[in-house]
Amino acid sequence: MSKVRQILNLNAYQAGDDTSDMATRDALLRRQANFGAASVLFYRDPIEMVGAQGATMIARDGTRYLDFYNNVPSVGHTHPKVVAAVQAQIAILNTNTRYLVEIVDQYLDALKAHLPDPLSNIALTCSGSEANDLALRVARAASGGTGVIVTDTAYHGNTDLTTRVSPSALKHRQLDDWVIAIPPPGRQAYGTNISAGFAARISEAITTLQSRGHAPAALLFDSIFSSDGIFADPPGFLHLACDTMRAAGGLVIADEVQPGFARTGTNFWGFERHGILPDIVTMGKPMGNGFPMAAMATQPAHLAAFCKDVGYFNTFGGNPVAAAAGLAVLEVIAEDGLQNNAQKTGALLLNGLAEIAAKSDRVADVRGAGLFIGVDLVDPMTGVADPAFTLRLIDAMRDEAILIGAAGKYGATLKIRPPLCLTSAEAERFVTAFDRSLKRAAEG
Ligand code: PMP
Repeated sequence: MSKVRQILNLNAYQAGDDTSDMATRDALLRRQANFGAASVLFYRDPIEMVGAQGATMIARDGTRYLDFYNNVPSVGHTHPKVVAAVQAQIAILNTNTRYLVEIVDQYLDALKAHLPDPLSNIALTCSGSEANDLALRVARAASGGTGVIVTDTAYHGNTDLTTRVSPSALKHRQLDDWVIAIPPPGRQAYGTNISAGFAARISEAITTLQSRGHAPAALLFDSIFSSDGIFADPPGFLHLACDTMRAAGGLVIADEVQPGFARTGTNFWGFERHGILPDIVTMGKPMGNGFPMAAMATQPAHLAAFCKDVGYFNTFGGNPVAAAAGLAVLEVIAEDGLQNNAQKTGALLLNGLAEIAAKSDRVADVRGAGLFIGVDLVDPMTGVADPAFTLRLIDAMRDEAILIGAAGKYGATLKIRPPLCLTSAEAERFVTAFDRSLKRAAEG
């Protein structure tokens, strides 16, 4: 059986003797002296980036990499409209939310146009971690409970509270007694009836929490289960799960940090694919296309329950420059037809990869929605998840100038997540390179 991997180690490598040149080696030593033990870098031979545009990142040596890993600059790296909006606003006014500032409410009205009606109160933060931290505190205040249910390899943030509900971040995987992690909603754990199987595990977890003296406060999930290995289908499987949690008095928190902002193609949010209405929605990463911003949206009564005991203020959260970036992102998604494009190029990728999978004994499964696709890689002899092969494949793709990372419990699922502006030609380039890399990585 493969070893369970910690999320920050999944795509992070220590510099080895294969570090290519002296300049990179110097940059690396300097970096390690500055970051210390918390330094996390992609690739054994790290890449120094100097620029980016669209779906391309440009390294110091001039290599133009296709970025299939990064879902932050979701409307495209350095998108001119977002750049212009940030530049213009920072030259006018940048302050906190204790003043009335037109662009902030303009942004929130535009964002709320994408959210279901009851979720009409929004707290703006600077990171997804802050948004989830607040969501958990709101859920506890509104429900009166303390217990939280998450999935086995979930990641929800880096604060004290969110680290405790992020099994994939814990090196020793010791959970507090108020947290229960259940297997993600895939066929491996639940067979063909994912909806019933997942809900049954939630029901069991609720009973266990109650027996430990923790009434359930929340079911917290990333609605495409990114770090668990990407589980999108069948649409609707989250219904029963949410009903089960609500019947026990807990809230449903949809973490949209990864699937939100049109990535899944058919919908703007991941939870919409399942036709559910969460009590709380959190979002981040693509929200500002790289400008740090995130948010928690909920119903007024839930936020009011939290604010009875403690207020919420975030110095940088919701500053006018963030609002300008966020507004530009929403406009670009609509103007450039990016949700449609995610659906179209996502289908191209999915079909191309499925054709390769049908011929390969290394690819066990290809699944996803829009421009969020997971590819399970296995040892052809045993059929078991193969993280060593996955690393070789990631390196082989890098040789093809394509950046990609891994996810899942064993780090043997490729996480395919390019910017939403990906062209058909770029999708085809990826599929061809993937086919070649698969063969090269299999050679050893
Ligand atoms: N939720 C999910 C699903 C995430 O993937 C992440 C970041 N990887 C976070 C929350 C935390 O967001 P941030 O890094 O902005 O704090």
